[in-house]
Amino acid sequence: MSQTPDLIYLDNNATTKVDPQVVKVMMPFLSQWYGNASSVHTFGGQVRHHVEEARARAAALVEALPEEIIFTSCGTESDNAALLSALENDVRRRKVVTTRVEHPAVLGFAKVLQQRGYHVEYAPVNGRGQLCMDTLVRMIDDQTAVVSVMWANNETGNIYPVYEIAEIAHQHGALFHTDAVQAVGKVPIDLASANIDLLSLSGHKLHAPKGVGALYVKKGTRFNQFLIGGHQEFGLRAGTENVPGIVALGEAMRIAADHIEFERSEVARLRDKLEHELLKQCPDARVNGNPLSRLPNTTNLSFEYVEGESILLMLDRFNIAASSGSACTSGSLEPSHVLRAMGVPETALHGSVRFSLSRYTTEREIDTVIEKMPPIIRRLREISPFGHA
Ligand code: PLP
Repeated sequence: MSQTPDLIYLDNNATTKVDPQVVKVMMPFLSQWYGNASSVHTFGGQVRHHVEEARARAAALVEALPEEIIFTSCGTESDNAALLSALENDVRRRKVVTTRVEHPAVLGFAKVLQQRGYHVEYAPVNGRGQLCMDTLVRMIDDQTAVVSVMWANNETGNIYPVYEIAEIAHQHGALFHTDAVQAVGKVPIDLASANIDLLSLSGHKLHAPKGVGALYVKKGTRFNQFLIGGHQEFGLRAGTENVPGIVALGEAMRIAADHIEFERSEVARLRDKLEHELLKQCPDARVNGNPLSRLPNTTNLSFEYVEGESILLMLDRFNIAASSGSACTSGSLEPSHVLRAMGVPETALHGSVRFSLSRYTTEREIDTVIEKMPPIIRRLREISPFGHA
């Protein structure tokens, strides 16, 4: 399988390239260091040492203690496990408060919880995707077991006031969980001084491989096991440790710490250039999201009267990879639930494209997209069935 060398990859919120240094560090754990980290022999002990080193590195990026990090298989597992654990913590509280714009890893699980008799309330967002805080605050009461609000949205990049919401959740005796899968490695996260009880993250969104994630559980917060079996991960998550994945995640998070400032300055500069030029050169285009509080790497643009899927196919001809919604919903022509929740008008709802950059994105790549996009939009509008002039 060959990957075209001139691929312009702007779909980093779907998944990222594994950092070559991460590959280098994990490889020995697929060959000579294949031991089981839970074995009592010296060989296993040496492997265990690297798992613990990875835990310390992962913890450092989010200002957590190593013992507050439980390695999992992905962001989805972390989200599911966090919600279920919170509900099991206090069986008298049967309510979950979340938002309409969460990833399906939370929304899908919330739906199952409803089917199991739990009460779930979904806070709305405004046209820019900002949370309606008054409504959210009213939803949180002493029946609420857990409030789950994502740190950053995967489609728009919007950042939510999680520190503040965590405080409010605690005032009502509820736990606070945040899906930080898109935020970790892109923006600073300080859990030491926060009231956040549970936080989910995923390796493949921050230049580690797929199949590894983590759940932060604040010291003092009881965690009820999701996967039951062996005594791995402090007896909190059974299953033989994915040592190569864990070592890779630790290294990726160590490297991410060195790049947070680069994300804020350089990645954001390229994103802003792309957004600014496309808005200037393409009439009837709009930003979906809140430019004042967004991830540095994400822009979600709607081009009215065209289909996002058609734009993607045309971009693909130039070897440019972007997305028209979340990775999990692309492939279907269902409009994004996030844009729907924001009340994006019907004419723009289907014409959205998400560009998500990474530290590997170059100025030349951005210039190429700026050159290719306007003619694509013009051409699609000429043949548009929506009757745009
Ligand atoms: N949460 C958010 C915000 C995401 O963007 C994703 C992946 O797209 C997930 C959760 C799921 O993560 P994973 O793919 O590791 O299961």
